[in-house]
Amino acid sequence: SVPLSFFGGIGAASKQGILVKGSNYLEALNDVDTVAFDKTGTLTKGQFSVVKVAPQNGITKDELLQMAASVEKNSTHPIAVSILNAYTGKILPVENAMEQAGHGLSAEINGQRVVVGNAKAIKQAGIEFTESTALGTIVYVAVAGKLWGDIVIADEPKKDAKKAIELLNNRGIDQTVMLTGDNEKVGSAIAKKLHMSNVYTNLLPENKVEIVNDLLKKSHQANKKVAFVGDGINDIPVLATADIGFAMGGLGSDAAVEAADIVIMGDEPSKVARAMKIAKKTRRIVI
Ligand code: ADP
Ligand code: MG
Repeated sequence: SVPLSFFGGIGAASKQGILVKGSNYLEALNDVDTVAFDKTGTLTKGQFSVVKVAPQNGITKDELLQMAASVEKNSTHPIAVSILNAYTGKILPVENAMEQAGHGLSAEINGQRVVVGNAKAIKQAGIEFTESTALGTIVYVAVAGKLWGDIVIADEPKKDAKKAIELLNNRGIDQTVMLTGDNEKVGSAIAKKLHMSNVYTNLLPENKVEIVNDLLKKSHQANKKVAFVGDGINDIPVLATADIGFAMGGLGSDAAVEAADIVIMGDEPSKVARAMKIAKKTRRIVI
């Protein structure tokens, strides 16, 4: 049987837009020593804007954007939305578009293979290129095995993100970790700005699971627990792996909300610390 006050805790949480799917998750929050966060859409707004269009090899900016936008038309990723917002011209007909998590997309336009994605995607396609040193998320565009250039896009931390980490640090949480598929330069810059203790970059969804499994091993040895906070479809395997999976409900996908143990309505990551505060109070009442 469940102590009555646990329902009180769940009720108090729900009033603050934190939906806890069982009293055991609320109780488990008291043992968390590590909180891992997805970056895009969780700590950052997930609203990218194009900050630079850098064509090469005699291509014009308009041609580069047209190629990228025509391919990105087949994706709903925040990156795709930003590129489509930046291009108002004619979209070319695209065939055989394929999206690959943590990479980008490939497709055919006029019988030519077009790759639109990060350095991993370009390397995988065996295309020669020099990595951009721009600070931002870099989307490379290659056509018929040749690099046409890159588009630099930027996403800002949410206003609430710094507070989210600060509150966890104040609660004595040992580790705040960022897990991202984005590049090292962007991941490190944001993690540093938010005062996070650790950052892992260039990750595929399966790499995120591996890292959370490592974190679990360490925490469990100390009788502690690991929470993960994410928002997207890509985060579902990690939400299921962590002891406590938080989905950000405001921007999040229905499937992520379903996979989570605790759902945060709205888009404030600081509600993770708020949930911990409620959990602690609840326990005090039980004892
Ligand atoms: P995060 O882990 O930060 O939430 P994702 O896993 O969604 O990010 O994406 C990881 C990386 O994969 C992106 O930073 C980007 O480089 C690349 N990527 C994913 N989807 C696309 C897309 N539609 N177009 C271009 N690049 C993409
Ligand atoms: Mg994400």
